[in-house]
Amino acid sequence: MSKYESINPYTNQLIKSYPDATQEEIEQALAAGEKLYLTWRSQLPATRSQLLHQIANTFKKHREEMAKTMTLEMGKLYHESLEEVDLCISICNYYAEKAPKMLEPTPLETTLGTAYYLKQSTGIIMACEPWNFPLYQVIRVFAPNFMVGNPIILKHAHNVPASAQLTEKIIQEAGAPKASLQNLFLSYAQIGDVIADKRVQGVAVTGSERGGSSVAEAAGKNIKKSTMELGGNDPFIVLADADSTILKNVLSDARTYNCGQVCTSSKRIIVVESRYDEVMNILQHTFASLKPGNPLDKETSLAPMNSQKAADKLAAQTKKGIEHGAEVAYQYPEIESSGAFFRPMILTNIDQNNPLFDEELFGPVAEVFKVKDEEEAIALANNSSFGLGSSVISQNKAHAQEVASEIDTGMTVINGRWITAPELPFGGVKKSGYGRELSELGLMSFVNEHLVIDVSK
Ligand code: NAP
Repeated sequence: MSKYESINPYTNQLIKSYPDATQEEIEQALAAGEKLYLTWRSQLPATRSQLLHQIANTFKKHREEMAKTMTLEMGKLYHESLEEVDLCISICNYYAEKAPKMLEPTPLETTLGTAYYLKQSTGIIMACEPWNFPLYQVIRVFAPNFMVGNPIILKHAHNVPASAQLTEKIIQEAGAPKASLQNLFLSYAQIGDVIADKRVQGVAVTGSERGGSSVAEAAGKNIKKSTMELGGNDPFIVLADADSTILKNVLSDARTYNCGQVCTSSKRIIVVESRYDEVMNILQHTFASLKPGNPLDKETSLAPMNSQKAADKLAAQTKKGIEHGAEVAYQYPEIESSGAFFRPMILTNIDQNNPLFDEELFGPVAEVFKVKDEEEAIALANNSSFGLGSSVISQNKAHAQEVASEIDTGMTVINGRWITAPELPFGGVKKSGYGRELSELGLMSFVNEHLVIDVSK
């Protein structure tokens, strides 16, 4: 892990460094979290609804400040940062409104007595989050657990410390108890100590396979429940009857939104031969039309990557892939800048022996595969260690649903690119992780389904 540093990837200039948490700060956070959990335990979720609406309103008040902070330290386009804040406001309002009903006891049918199960809070949950959506990743865990009554200790990515601190500040300004969400700049060793602490009852991780397996190992060793939202190599299947307008619209930013750094972005574009040339033309035109620049400027459509390290890693991965036979069908011209830009690229001819075949490329690279027919498309889609999201583009909606059911991923979008909303479950299978965030499924991730049965006659 690097130090906690805010570096503007558009200039590669350091904005600010942040020291690691002290042992005293960690102990204080754990003690405060435990105290709040014990208070919340005896209160109904509905008593927190108003406060969560107020948190949403306070994010609305600080919308521009939050968006600018994210853009400055991880480089996403400013309008995308604003969209992210708006999505988080909707997530808070959704749980504030819906969670009390979802958290009511569930009656159970049995001949043994009167039975039901409660959905109770369990204690402090640690959230280990990545930089690609600095606010959304945190709110996906915070809002449902706030309603359940589980305080959060946040360990955010090392390159978004200002976003982490601002998130904590806004939640407190809304009037939430200080321990509702406590940000700590933890080293990896300290993460292990926090997970092992008996006051911590679960760990929610969003990140790569590397981060996920390390945290999952610590959680497993300490018998702590975990959810793992990890990487993806999402297939985007274009069938012969795909609608041309939909195809064009959907592909317009499928590989460039957030500079391609989306877990569910359409990384493997799998096209039946009859539509191959059309897809290549759309992608090339889309990439060639991009305008690199300052992500805070309205005219910019190609943002820098989140860090120079990430741009270098992607360059090394694609270089290796090309050495193993991948062909560059297109690459954006040179970009005059001291920022962390990566020139968008279209790669073809990636065979199964190529190291890229089963790797996630986290940036603006489209890998395009030509297949004979639908059967081959599905087989290729499933030939992956990952299983996060997928897309199917076809005018025959009933048939597209059948195809969706044959793809080994946690989510499939028909006639669209990746999508997220508070009411829709988010998560994957295989090396993309386990568990779900958002929706009612996500709300239940860290509850105690406490059975109560009265057998008295
Ligand atoms: P990452 O390196 O795994 O980091 C994620 C978080 O885990 C960070 O807070 C990181 O801290 C921490 N971490 C990393 N290695 C660790 C270790 N060995 N021990 C303890 N903590 C560790 O992931 P990333 O590169 O920031 O994020 C991009 C990845 O996230 C991509 O693979 C993307 O697909 C995935 N992602 C998945 C979803 C989903 O919902 N499935 C959503 C978004 C992103 P440091 O920053 O301090 O290293």
